[in-house]
Amino acid sequence: MVKKNRSQRSIEHLEYINEIAHVVSKFSTSLSRIYVAHLKRSASKILQNLGTEIKQSFCKRCNTVFVEGVNCDITMKEQCRIYKCKTCGYIRKINLNKPLKKFPTTLRKMSRTTKQGGKDAKEKESKGG
Ligand SMILES: [Zn+2]
Repeated sequence: MVKKNRSQRSIEHLEYINEIAHVVSKFSTSLSRIYVAHLKRSASKILQNLGTEIKQSFCKRCNTVFVEGVNCDITMKEQCRIYKCKTCGYIRKINLNKPLKKFPTTLRKMSRTTKQGGKDAKEKESKGG
């Protein structure tokens, strides 16, 4: 039996809260906002970056889970995706050319259990001039 370490369990917990927040948002906005607030708080507690995809799925200011056409307007402008929250009026521009920060999913972590030379050995070449 594989014993899960603490960080893996907390990542699973964050994934779980994120899922609940999105499911609950279909029925109750206020409850989903509580879950998103909890998600942000727990992520900062364990110093875990939520990743761009998760962060883009809710409003930064009022924690409302974005549902296109219902509580947010999404427009495209010059390689930017602009989210406008209908709840609080917050406008968020997202540059699509910027690389995404990914949330370490537990599945990805499990596939990486075989650790071989984790970090790339950087070869420093000294050029004599
Ligand atoms: Zn908002």
